[in-house]
Amino acid sequence: MKVELSIEKVRSEFIEKIEEISGQNLFSCYQCGKCSAGCPFSFAMDLLPSHIIRMVQLGLQEDIGNSKTMWLCSSCLTCGVRCPRGVDVPRIMEALRVLVTRDKINYVEPSSLTPEQLEELPQIALISNFRKFTG
Ligand code: SF4
Ligand code: SF4
Repeated sequence: MKVELSIEKVRSEFIEKIEEISGQNLFSCYQCGKCSAGCPFSFAMDLLPSHIIRMVQLGLQEDIGNSKTMWLCSSCLTCGVRCPRGVDVPRIMEALRVLVTRDKINYVEPSSLTPEQLEELPQIALISNFRKFTG
């Protein structure tokens, strides 16, 4: 059986979401590695920035979610400046963080609070409780 592959066929919902949130064309990256070579936090990352971009291209959402790289990225923009293809890597890292926090559970579900609790609880406590379980 002949299998024809095209960019359209390998795209997944995950890839579409990352592109939508980041505004980046993931398939512009040709894996030169310049982003990773210049990243000041690569020493602490379990996957290099260029690895993350490749894994997003391949739709490996679960493996990316198990990595701590997106949480170590400080959005210093070094990689974006160095990229010969104009890929804004920190925007992609941010898009990955957004997807994780969307999926995680709130410490306290806002809809479970009574009107009395909403009136009595300090605002700062309410905001703290709406944080997500992440990492
Ligand atoms: S520098 Fe740009 S093209 Fe090179 S690996 Fe990083 S994101 Fe891809
Ligand atoms: S923006 Fe993030 S991935 Fe890019 S060089 Fe800085 S820390 Fe590394």
